Amino acid sequence: MTIPACPKCQSEYTYADGDLLICPECSYEWKEGEAATESSAQIVDAHGQPLQDGDSVTVIKDLKVKGSSSVVKVGTKVKNIRLLADATDGHNIDCKITGIGAMKLKSEFVKKA
Ligand SMILES: [Zn+2]
Repeated sequence: MTIPACPKCQSEYTYADGDLLICPECSYEWKEGEAATESSAQIVDAHGQPLQDGDSVTVIKDLKVKGSSSVVKVGTKVKNIRLLADATDGHNIDCKITGIGAMKLKSEFVKKA
């Protein structure tokens, strides 16, 4: 059996222990078959569709813009989003909205266009 490289640090010195795969370099442990689908950084839209940098999305809910009286209306199309994988407050999409400017959105309030 071929042991895949570590999904975390790409080390090839991985080994199997039972059904666990272990990386001695960064001590990451995972199960075979999990690595391809499991990604903690994966950001999905309201329907569970994975989003990527550069995607266009549509806002599915009126969103108040923090610190202003503007509202991003439902149906607003947002082009060329940038994902923020390490967002801690849920605002995991960085984008520019025509007429409003740079702002951050929550991926749960958008759908892939
Ligand atoms: Zn590793």
